[in-house]
Amino acid sequence: MDYQNYIDGRWVAASDGKTFEQRNPANLEEVTGHWPKSTREDAKQAIESSHAAFADWAAIGVCQRAEYLSKAVAVMKGRAEEIAAILTAENGKTLNESRTEVGSAVREMEFQIAQGVAMCGETVPSSTPGVFAYSVRRPVGVASIISPWNFPFNVPGRKCTPALISGNTVVFKPASLTPKAGKAFVDVFIEAGLPPGVLNFVSGGGGTVGEEMITNPLVEAISFTGSTGVGKGIQQSAAQKLVRTQLELGGKNPAVIMEDADLDKAADAVATAAYACAGQWCTSTSRAIVVREVAEAFNAKLLQRVQAIRVGDGRGDVDMGPVCGSHQLQSIMGYINIGREEGATLAAGGNRLTTDGMDQGCFIEPTVFTDVQPEMRIAQEEIFGPVLSVLVADDFDEALELANRVEFGLSSSIFTKDISRAFQFLEKTEVGLTHVNMMTAYREPQLSFGGVKSSGHGIPESGKTGIEFFTEHKVAFINYA
Ligand code: NAD
Repeated sequence: MDYQNYIDGRWVAASDGKTFEQRNPANLEEVTGHWPKSTREDAKQAIESSHAAFADWAAIGVCQRAEYLSKAVAVMKGRAEEIAAILTAENGKTLNESRTEVGSAVREMEFQIAQGVAMCGETVPSSTPGVFAYSVRRPVGVASIISPWNFPFNVPGRKCTPALISGNTVVFKPASLTPKAGKAFVDVFIEAGLPPGVLNFVSGGGGTVGEEMITNPLVEAISFTGSTGVGKGIQQSAAQKLVRTQLELGGKNPAVIMEDADLDKAADAVATAAYACAGQWCTSTSRAIVVREVAEAFNAKLLQRVQAIRVGDGRGDVDMGPVCGSHQLQSIMGYINIGREEGATLAAGGNRLTTDGMDQGCFIEPTVFTDVQPEMRIAQEEIFGPVLSVLVADDFDEALELANRVEFGLSSSIFTKDISRAFQFLEKTEVGLTHVNMMTAYREPQLSFGGVKSSGHGIPESGKTGIEFFTEHKVAFINYA
């Protein structure tokens, strides 16, 4: 099937007619679609269309915008099962995980629509008698939204919704591994009757389409989720034009397990957050830091859970699907080799799976390394796959120090019954999202979501800051004396 870009209310091919192919990671023989390999010129047209649509979209008022967006949410709910099937066939995650993603997108969108309707500036008492002082929030203009393949439906939802409800227009580029999920997202807005140009969709490479979306002078805001390396490049480029950026980047998230932890609950939470979506959540647990006293007991419980994980095609009755494509497969297998060479102990997994109908897919065993040392690459770098590194610490202070001894700062957890330790951890852990006795991946749309250190930059997504990023403040003083 040949798919197209959606620009200015019409489906169109890339201007030079080139396409790229996408395949199901559970079975690389299955082509999921051919997509426009768009040029910079295509992206430019989309940006110009969004720019032309901006004034009217900003002027119609938030209640009418909310009507369009609420209708899109209703369409989404009605199509949830169909969308989940698209996510699974394209990304590989299990059907249950795909359903959860669609449900999360719905909740994010409902919350952001409500925020938009309630959007307000400030009125403050002026220091000059007879002067009325207030501020209003205004949309910024055209927003470039660039999303990754791991949450190809929810991430566009939590970026596009606050952008659109607050009166901006959007050019959206999906990751090249998951354009069909991106199209499914755009389709619901088309069915909701969104005016032409308000939401444009362009598939293609980061170096072409993405580059235009970063450098085009008509773009006023860039919201990007992806790898830290690409994010740093975007920041450098955006700085030249003083364009605002929201960068949600990689992670190396630790779970600290103290000697007084409920080890069953801790092992459940670590196993869930390390292997759900084949370890390809930005908030996946990739390091378990266990206090020596309970390391053996925790490892035994963890390995028991890991060995019970059923891997296979996400459309079947399984717990974990394939990783998302050949590049991911090679990169993760590369890290497993690095872990072996670095001298860590391979306690579980470590192999590509090719039996039981998995020979044409990108399946990897859930993998655990123990005896991991803090400076090893598998303890420092984001692997973004079903690979967990277990480190041992002598006590709380060392565990906290190890948790922070990485360049990333996205998410963390501590498992303990000691409230004093829990609060010390909450205070000193260097992340944007942290937990006590819960998995590193837990979050809710009502609160902001973003990382610190190399995990993020700018005003975070979601929660009340979702709309903050896409609006600017205009302050007025009126002398009525
Ligand atoms: P990626 O950086 O390779 O690509 C992300 C998007 O950027 C894609 O759409 C890609 O085409 C585009 N892109 C690539 N080069 C570009 C350029 N030069 N200019 C503009 N756009 C460009 O990341 P990925 O492999 O798709 O996603 C995985 C990464 O995303 C992981 O590091 C993961 O941790 C991170 N992630 C972070 C969060 C978060 O909220 N912090 C959420 C999900 C994923």
